Amino acid sequence: MERSSSITDRSRSRTTLAERRLSDNVFPLPGPFRAQRIVEMQGALHAAQALFPDATREELRATAAGSDPRLYDRDRDFLVLSYHSIVVRTPGLTILVDCCIGNDKPRSRNANFNQRRGTFLQDLAAAGVTPEDVDIVMCTHLHVDHVGWNTRQENGEWVPTFPNARYLFAKSEVEHWQQVLETTPAEEVNHGSWADSVAPVFDAGQAEVVAMDHEVADGIDLIGAPGHTPGNVIVRLDDGGERAYLTGDVIHHPVQVERPEWSSCFCWDPAMSAETRVKTLATVAEEDAWLLPAHFPTPTAGRVRSTASGFRMAWWK
Ligand SMILES: [Zn+2]
Repeated sequence: MERSSSITDRSRSRTTLAERRLSDNVFPLPGPFRAQRIVEMQGALHAAQALFPDATREELRATAAGSDPRLYDRDRDFLVLSYHSIVVRTPGLTILVDCCIGNDKPRSRNANFNQRRGTFLQDLAAAGVTPEDVDIVMCTHLHVDHVGWNTRQENGEWVPTFPNARYLFAKSEVEHWQQVLETTPAEEVNHGSWADSVAPVFDAGQAEVVAMDHEVADGIDLIGAPGHTPGNVIVRLDDGGERAYLTGDVIHHPVQVERPEWSSCFCWDPAMSAETRVKTLATVAEEDAWLLPAHFPTPTAGRVRSTASGFRMAWWK
């Protein structure tokens, strides 16, 4: 709508700017789903070759993502990564997918993760979601950077951050880490995150262990995608016409769209991880669906196109 007064023009431009900031993180998914990214941390955070040991510096730089300054810091050969949750809202449910790193957690092996005092809950509130509003929490897997906000500290105790939520965990994933914990001290497993970010959810009776392939609600499914971890899952949204895939760490960084054979140093079974990644990219491309990974930095989401040599991203903006 056109307006003439200069005062209104100024207020309109402020609104437009705020909306633009918001829309960076709100994905225009079709149908009843609204998906919004809550960013805990974003930046040039990881040495590229350390994350992808099979890639050379030249190969990393030669990818489209390696040439894109939003995604790759060529001065240091660092990958730009985001640590975010995705809030999915339907008319009846508020779902939080992946829970980042969390506040106040002792993570002596990673300075970026250690004793954080971030604004995650305020940012969630700014998106219109209080902890009480969250109905379902879904961790695609149980690595330290996906479980953190499962809990928060209250009077020296770790308690579930989302008091009314059911927390869904894939059975194979839970069993795998329980097995690891039988032979390894808890503080050495996933930076100690089982003890402060997973076990308290079980203790509170809010954990629900489900199959890797599981219908969460109408149009919302978990799909088994093992490799990065044994019980890794993808969350698929399907409005009956179009789909979105919240792929967690099946794919960490956009360089892997072109080079899906590169598995990360954190993958449990690198070969299986690569196989799952190729299969996932092929499905997303074939269905012309949305790809919403857990660590892609801004613009984060897009579609995947098949090319003569493999795949490429088609960013949504
Ligand atoms: Zn991760």
